[in-house]
Amino acid sequence: MYVKPQILTLQAYKPGKPSEVVMREYGLDKVVKLASNENPFGCSPKVFEELRNVVSKFAIYPDGATEILSEKVANFLGVAPNQLIFGSGADEVIQMISRALLTKEHNIVQAALTFSQYSHHAVIEGAEVRSVPLVNGVHDLDEMLEQVDQNTKIVWICNPNNPTGTYINTRQLTAFLENVPSSTFVVVDEAYFEYVSASDYPKTISLLNKYENLVVLRTFSKAYGLASFRIGYGVANSKLIEEINIARLPFNTSMVAQVAAIASLEDQVFIQNCVQQNKKGMEQYTAFFDAYGIEYYPSQANFIYIPVSNSQEIFTRLEAKGYIIRAFPDGIRITIGTAAENEGLILHLKAILTDKSAIK
Ligand SMILES: *Cc1c(COP(=O)(O)O)cnc(C)c1O
Repeated sequence: MYVKPQILTLQAYKPGKPSEVVMREYGLDKVVKLASNENPFGCSPKVFEELRNVVSKFAIYPDGATEILSEKVANFLGVAPNQLIFGSGADEVIQMISRALLTKEHNIVQAALTFSQYSHHAVIEGAEVRSVPLVNGVHDLDEMLEQVDQNTKIVWICNPNNPTGTYINTRQLTAFLENVPSSTFVVVDEAYFEYVSASDYPKTISLLNKYENLVVLRTFSKAYGLASFRIGYGVANSKLIEEINIARLPFNTSMVAQVAAIASLEDQVFIQNCVQQNKKGMEQYTAFFDAYGIEYYPSQANFIYIPVSNSQEIFTRLEAKGYIIRAFPDGIRITIGTAAENEGLILHLKAILTDKSAIK
């Protein structure tokens, strides 16, 4: 054993099979990947323009302090630049928060099922993980509050929740924040923020002044269509950000990622258009599920979760047809694609789900 023993209780992140491998395996000439909630429309064309202007700068280290990007995002959100910390994806912000805050004396509270990285980093830091089952795909905040004690350093709330797409509303979140001890940080992961349309979805940024223990995560990987650049951020009170910043690598976000993020932030028309297309795509799926009496969780994100007991079988049958989705032990998650991609997937799903031997 070379590593900390608790690391061996975990598994390295397993990405889905690359499209090229699936094409070869099944002799397909096209594969549609709807497995990782990326934007099927790519990113703003402004990103390509801006990137052309920086090719002469590749030999120079990026601005580790992300000064310009911080100003732009702070201005966009209505916070101070020193309330922001950027990471190589929101993933790295989750890692930095865990690394800076957790020890073996602490525990975290999270939902089961939720985004895998919260518990992953808690285990690496030696902290205890308390997972509270979802109720109908939704965070059970009452039970999560029950699990909080004086050693609870972080409560993770994924909102909307990945993989179920469900959300916690303003009243539920503020009641939770009122009752949680001020020594416990509540991190609300809003990776799918841009897609949300529910009017009672919490305005977390405006809650930051009131709750010093609140942290909000956002990313450029999903609606902004910049997943391969790896850039996301956390927003919180400036003192916490200053302290977490000490644990940050000197040049953790690249210059190209920063430039791409700024360009994409300035094209909100692109985002609005993608959000509209996503809404229509979501309706393609819900109309099909409603018509066929198939249960799903109502989603505020760019994916939809269907509880099934034979997720692996459905995954494999779709894969053979050239559609890659994500299988969980008790359900499947489908990323909303373009209209044509959704239509194609629905045709195959129809055949599989109406096959009486398949739906369980
Ligand atoms: C995708 C995702 C992230 C991480 O995204 P990055 O690419 O690392 O910015 C964080 N949280 C949730 C819930 C996600 O789905």
